[in-house]
Amino acid sequence: MQRYNLSYWERETFFKDYDVAVIGSGIVGLTAAMHLKTLDPALRVVVLERGALPAGASTRNAGFACFGSMSELLDDMTHLTEDEVLAVVEKRWRGLQRLRAVVGDANMDFQMLGGYEMFTDEDEETFHSCAARVPDFNRKIGTITGHPETYKIVDDRLPGFGFRGVNHLILNQPEGQVHTGKMMASLLHKAAEHGIQIFNGINLVRLEDSSLGVELETDTGWVLRVPRVLVAVNGFAKTLLPDAEVTPARNQVLVTQPIPGLKVEGCFHYDRGYYYFRNVDGRILLGGGRHLDNSTEQTSEFGSNALIRSALVQLLKTVICPGQPFEVDAWWTGILGLGPVKKPIVERYSDNVVVAVRLSGMGVAIGTLIGQEGAEMLLA
Ligand SMILES: Cc1cc2nc3c(=O)[nH]c(=O)nc-3n(C[C@H](O)[C@H](O)[C@H](O)COP(=O)(O)OP(=O)(O)OC[C@H]3O[C@@H](n4cnc5c(N)ncnc54)[C@H](O)[C@@H]3O)c2cc1C
Repeated sequence: MQRYNLSYWERETFFKDYDVAVIGSGIVGLTAAMHLKTLDPALRVVVLERGALPAGASTRNAGFACFGSMSELLDDMTHLTEDEVLAVVEKRWRGLQRLRAVVGDANMDFQMLGGYEMFTDEDEETFHSCAARVPDFNRKIGTITGHPETYKIVDDRLPGFGFRGVNHLILNQPEGQVHTGKMMASLLHKAAEHGIQIFNGINLVRLEDSSLGVELETDTGWVLRVPRVLVAVNGFAKTLLPDAEVTPARNQVLVTQPIPGLKVEGCFHYDRGYYYFRNVDGRILLGGGRHLDNSTEQTSEFGSNALIRSALVQLLKTVICPGQPFEVDAWWTGILGLGPVKKPIVERYSDNVVVAVRLSGMGVAIGTLIGQEGAEMLLA
């Protein structure tokens, strides 16, 4: 990046007198900025984003409005206590209700089409452990969702979807899906309506807190000073805060051209959640497969992976749309922020800096709540 100085005019007009800077304009950064203005409408809030658009996960995800498939939650219970896992489910559920209230269902094409978990021959044992827990999960998670039958075994729906080699389906009835692009466009629009200034193309490379406030340096060499900062850079946290316990994880995603007569409707998890797909605009959106080449995908660089892309196409051909011709319309990647456990980090980094990062694959659900928590901690 070419280094150059801000002019006097630029410095005095565009980068003066903010009370808070939020770094990152993903779902967390935007909702944190809006919550700051709700808490104190007089605050002058600026969002600094390195991409022309938000450039991490929030505009590049699958749009599952999900709060937990059964095998995912049972697996989580091997790392966390049952109460801790249920607390995360509750947070995801509350987060989804908050997202729907903030954005509005119609503004992001929210549809409650359900989330399905698929089980093949290899998953027979997993299916039986999940099936045995359905009544227990419905009792415990029903108190969160208010749904009398959150999870339901629906093997009878298999012929209708046309999958090959799938033996069982467990449906999570109150899960839904959103149009990710519309959700983020709406959040950007609402942030502007709240009087929040958003600057794109601002790539921060250094952050230093002192009694004088926080000094931020961009890759162009500009140095900005702001009293308080909220860092919402998710999978990119280590570049600004080298000690942050966040590992970037790249995900490969494709969308097909419209498929005539497509039978798939809803959000689906396949092979223990390593793959995920859904219908959108008469097409299939499919992603995942990171486990096939974990070390290469542990990166914050966008880029393709031939091995994983070929596995995704193969999965479409053999399991999801067997015997149905399709063409891939687009490929992209997004960057997740992961940690040793599936818990976001919302903490005070220093006197004037709060971090709200590491949303794993749950950010659509919990992003708005994490933004709210980060904003409240910054003003506390
Ligand atoms: C392929 C994929 C599929 C997913 N599917 C789902 C799903 O279906 N459901 C679900 O709930 N979750 C899903 N997720 C996870 C979800 O998208 C994320 O948890 C959520 O978007 C994280 O939001 P965020 O605001 O924390 O981070 P991001 O959206 O990553 O935002 C961080 C922002 O910070 C900016 N930034 C980074 N470094 C700097 C810097 N130095 N200076 C300035 N700006 C910077 C980035 O450009 C980026 O815009 C998926 C993620 C991926 C990648």
